[in-house]
Amino acid sequence: MSWGITNVDHRFADKVLTAGFVEAHSHTMTGMYASLPYVGFFDRMMPNGDVVKGLKSTQELTERISTIAENTPRGESIVVSGFDPIYMESERLSRIHLDAATIDHPVFVFHASGHLATVNSFILDKYDIGPDHPAPGIGMGDDGQPNGELREPAAMALASEEYRQIGRIVSAPDTLHHFANSMRNVGITSATDLGALLHLSEKTFEATSETTSAHDFPLRVISACRVIGNATDMSDAARKVLAVREKSHDKLHFPIVKMVLDGSIQGFTAVIQWPQYYSGEDHGLFLLPPEQVVDFLRPFHEAGIGIHCHCNGSATSEVFIDAVETLLRETPWLDHRHTATHAQLMTQAQMKKARNLGMCANFFINHVFYWGDQHRDITVGPDRAHGMNPCGSADRIGLSYSFHTDSPVTPPGHLHTMWCAVNRLTSTGKVLGENERISVDRAFHAATIDAAYQLHMDHLIGSLEVGKFADMTVLDHDPYDVAPETIKDINVWGTVLDGIPHPRPQ
Ligand SMILES: [Zn+2]
Repeated sequence: MSWGITNVDHRFADKVLTAGFVEAHSHTMTGMYASLPYVGFFDRMMPNGDVVKGLKSTQELTERISTIAENTPRGESIVVSGFDPIYMESERLSRIHLDAATIDHPVFVFHASGHLATVNSFILDKYDIGPDHPAPGIGMGDDGQPNGELREPAAMALASEEYRQIGRIVSAPDTLHHFANSMRNVGITSATDLGALLHLSEKTFEATSETTSAHDFPLRVISACRVIGNATDMSDAARKVLAVREKSHDKLHFPIVKMVLDGSIQGFTAVIQWPQYYSGEDHGLFLLPPEQVVDFLRPFHEAGIGIHCHCNGSATSEVFIDAVETLLRETPWLDHRHTATHAQLMTQAQMKKARNLGMCANFFINHVFYWGDQHRDITVGPDRAHGMNPCGSADRIGLSYSFHTDSPVTPPGHLHTMWCAVNRLTSTGKVLGENERISVDRAFHAATIDAAYQLHMDHLIGSLEVGKFADMTVLDHDPYDVAPETIKDINVWGTVLDGIPHPRPQ
């Protein structure tokens, strides 16, 4: 018998086809930008393919909001998202700036971090948020009055209608479509929803399963339930993950769970070892007492469920690696692939131990570009900033790693992460840690097969091999051929999934 080729499909003759990109740390919340106006600093592609210009000053933000106000009925809420105060050179955004945009609408500016919002006086009045309000997290101005900044959910939720509006958008079925389109636009064929809460409810599982199984849905979704609650609930949670795993299909998978152990470095809430932060106030906080981590994770480890643990700070990586060591002494599992995600400040010693234990890292390499200057000058200082997201060291040590965008925290796209890992340029064009740069070939592996590996999915995705899904990323140029500093500028045509082409709107 022969396998004669009778029909050759020439449609991509002038394109470059690669194994589909795999994003091992993103969130379906990415789809919110289809509904909420984007007001971040950098230009950003929306789910429909349009690029929205970044806003470079508080003044530009005020102007954008007053334009929206002109087209919004008086009294109706204006909710915008993606603002990041760290880039603003002018004074910190307050209700005064937002009042200049409109006093006839409640205005809620949701920050990129997801931990803060700034609101106008209309909202402060609407919900009686005055200087004596007992809720924690209400920012105060020098005049002793609330300045409009609401920190963390307890304070943000005071603006109940506007805060709920964000929640409604994030959980709407359309958001999953917008998420998938955002990923397709940048050539990603499989992406995680890391920290999903939904699959523990039957109804939301059914909706997600139906949406993703549609034959034209352009993405394989890898759903990682977030581990929250008491340690005593975890056996039940592990059973639920195993039960939902039974219902996996080609476009929806449940190989891992996610746990969050600390905050962010730029927010000073990550837990960092001595000498801690370089400047600024250390608000490092373990979200779970370190001595409870083993008990928390044991049911998942024993059930054969991969664990991805959010570790931004070096102290947090240490706790997670030690916990995995304890679990492995109790219950050996040679192929666990437990992964420290973010892993930004992993030390050389931690990487060696993680390698010996069979762990992986998923570096938040986009930080080098987006916050690299701030990390060098403010958060951790030059020595440690140069060694952040240490792909080069991981290669030398032999620790398996991927890298991610944490979208919507930074825009999705592996051409950008690869560009960061290969060049390590900050947003002002300075090289941060030249010894941690890696080759294009290593970057390609991290963005494809090594991401699939840490998701326990490399038998299905991450490379083009007989017996695996034929997921492809379609590019205009070959990242191996272009000048390294232009990798991020390569045009993405779209993707191919299950033989179906998914062009991005050009
Ligand atoms: Zn995340």
